[in-house]
Amino acid sequence: MGHRTSTVLALIMSMMLTTLVIAAPARPAQAAKQPASGTAASAAGSAAAGAADAPAASHKTLYLTFDDGPSQRYTPQILDILRREHVRATFFVLGSRSQEYPGLVRRIRLEGHELGNHGFYHEVITGKPDVWVRQDVTKAERAIRAASGVTPVLYRPPGGMIDQREMAMLTKAGHPVVLWTLDSGDWRAKSAAPIVNTVLRNVQPGAIVLFHDGISPSRYTAQALPKIIRVCRARGYTFELVPVGPAASRITTHADSRQ
Ligand SMILES: [Zn+2]
Repeated sequence: MGHRTSTVLALIMSMMLTTLVIAAPARPAQAAKQPASGTAASAAGSAAAGAADAPAASHKTLYLTFDDGPSQRYTPQILDILRREHVRATFFVLGSRSQEYPGLVRRIRLEGHELGNHGFYHEVITGKPDVWVRQDVTKAERAIRAASGVTPVLYRPPGGMIDQREMAMLTKAGHPVVLWTLDSGDWRAKSAAPIVNTVLRNVQPGAIVLFHDGISPSRYTAQALPKIIRVCRARGYTFELVPVGPAASRITTHADSRQ
């Protein structure tokens, strides 16, 4: 990723943090508000929140995101887990795979998740002519709409690769860009444990967590997910859809290559 992009994303990130600080209430008197689980993890979570960063206690939101699907093999497994755990997530699906598996795209939507656009064939957009980029996004959008009846708003570029100009162009065209703040590393995982550890070690309020439901290590994503959800919930986190709207463009950080 280029230096210019890093700078832009760092700027965007700092805007986001500023927003979070501004949005935090002065002093919420609700440290006791915890799910009734009574586990060690829960106690540790509330202690940490109380000590370091009390204002964030009422904003312990996580945004789970899944890329590169839908996959006939892994997307149903992941949807089953999310349903069982009552968690909603955002799926950045590919146009080509939406054409291939329209029933899965419908299921994602019907089960209350958000559909985002991840391009048609997962081709990296940086360095491509603007007209190509717009066509790719539009083509994927049409495929997702044809499958689900819903027009996706959020866009996540393949590989997370995008420059400032492209980001502005797409946002202006009605496709606010969402990257992530926490890469679960599932794309390189050879078991579930490193995915669990990466997320639980680095999670913080407002994190947008990158997972995949459409690549072969997604089998480990599915294995890791129940524990991640339960431990985060015990620490007081709630799970929400990435907000749809222009504000989404500020929520970014680039982490790694393959996504
Ligand atoms: Zn991807």
